[in-house]
Amino acid sequence: MTKGKRRIGVMGGTFDPIHYGHLVAAAEAAEEFRLEQVVFVPAGQPPHKRPETVTDARHRFLMTVLATVANDVFVVSRVDIDRPGPSYTVDTLTELQRLYGPETELYFITGADAMSQILQWKDGESLFEMCHFIAATRPGYSLMTFKKALGPVAQKFKDRIHPLQVPALAISSSDIRHRIRQGRSARYLLPDPVWHYIMKNGLYR
Ligand code: NAP
Repeated sequence: MTKGKRRIGVMGGTFDPIHYGHLVAAAEAAEEFRLEQVVFVPAGQPPHKRPETVTDARHRFLMTVLATVANDVFVVSRVDIDRPGPSYTVDTLTELQRLYGPETELYFITGADAMSQILQWKDGESLFEMCHFIAATRPGYSLMTFKKALGPVAQKFKDRIHPLQVPALAISSSDIRHRIRQGRSARYLLPDPVWHYIMKNGLYR
């Protein structure tokens, strides 16, 4: 943490759909790292997923807005959705740093599973020069898996990598999609307006 700089969280994810695990992770990160704001950034085209397996960005964006509207600290950005091509995190961070200015320190928050692949992301290692990383872990997740995947980089950038245990991340988007496909309820795993949006638009059937 650099003294005098404002700290902004960048919550990156596909959010297909957004659920309470994401919201709790963002709130915990904001409290623990004294973040002034958490910007939720739904990925436009997640670089590692086939486009036909991901719900239309318009739906994912609107669900993210519905889920975050009641919290003053949370905002939603369209930077990834409006940028054509794959949503590389290096481009997300460059754009947000430009928007927020050099006196802002960015904290990228995402799942530890996603982050353990970071060395395969575009510009991999150099991302650690751009911001801090908060790796949200599910119950039972072993940090050794994460450290092994990052190898010597984990030690080199240990001051920039912050694991964060989030028990509510027992909830997962893939489980919610699976439940709905099977005709089961997921109603209490995500905010009511998001549940109603999913039902109204027939998503995940
Ligand atoms: P993913 O592969 O769908 O997710 C991997 C795991 O992380 C899942 O368990 C997922 O749970 C969890 N997760 C994802 N976002 C989370 C968040 N914000 N907070 C807590 N847990 C989260 O990952 P993804 O969502 O598509 O991508 C995550 C971020 O990494 C996005 O911003 C994406 O653009 C970026 N990314 C960048 C590159 C690149 O630059 N080349 C490559 C891959 C990913 P849920 O399924 O429940 O969300």
